Amino acid sequence: MILEIIVAEPLQNNVYLLVEEKSSEAAVIDPAMGSDAVLAKLSELNIQLQYIINTHGHFDHTADNAPLQKATGAKISIHREDAYRLEQDSREALSYMPIIPPKSKADILLQEGDELKLGEVAIKVLHTPGHTEGSSCFHLESDNTIFTGDTLFAGTCGRTDFIGGDPSKMVESLSRLSTLPRDMKVYPGHGLPTTIGEERWIGNKSMIKALVGVV
Ligand SMILES: [Zn+2]
Ligand SMILES: [Zn+2]
Repeated sequence: MILEIIVAEPLQNNVYLLVEEKSSEAAVIDPAMGSDAVLAKLSELNIQLQYIINTHGHFDHTADNAPLQKATGAKISIHREDAYRLEQDSREALSYMPIIPPKSKADILLQEGDELKLGEVAIKVLHTPGHTEGSSCFHLESDNTIFTGDTLFAGTCGRTDFIGGDPSKMVESLSRLSTLPRDMKVYPGHGLPTTIGEERWIGNKSMIKALVGVV
C-alpha cells in the first residue's frame, strides 16, 4: 500500500491517501480541506478514488467530502452513529474554519467489524467512541497500521467534552487499542505518527481516566 500524507490547514488535519498498487484502487481518510492536493496526487498517479472515509463527523475532517466526491464519484463512508453530522448545519464551523463546509451525505454506513476493500486489501472498522459517538479507527492489517482519527494522538487523546463525547467510552476505546500489537504504526487525525508501543499509557486505565477526567 502506498501512503501519502497531506497536512491541511487551518487545524493541521492529516489527510491520508491510500493507494493499493495491484488494483490501482484508492481511498482517502479524512479529506479535511485537502481535496485539491488529493486530486493533484490522484491525477499524477492516474488513480481512481473509491472511498472517502471519515474517522468521525467533525467538520475539520469532513470539510472537503462534497467537492472530492463531486470530482471523483468516490463513496463517502462513516460510522452510522456519526453520519448525521455530515448533513448538519455547518455554520458553527466558521468559528474555526475559513469556509462553511458544504454538506455531504454518507453512501456507506459503517459499523464495528465492517471492511472496505481496496483490491484484495481490507480496511477494517473498529468502533472507538469517546471523542464522538461514531468515532472509528481504520485498521490496515496488511501494513500493520491503524488510522485513529481524533481518538488517539501521539501522547494524548481527543477531547471528550464536545457534543457526543463521552469520557468513559474514551477510556474503553483506548484500552481496546492498547491490546493491538506494540509495533503497529498509528496515524492520527492531527500531529505526528506514533506506534501502539510508544503509547504505553493507553494500557493503564488510571492514566487514561486522569487524562480524560473520569473519577
Ligand atoms: Zn474531532
Ligand atoms: Zn480533529
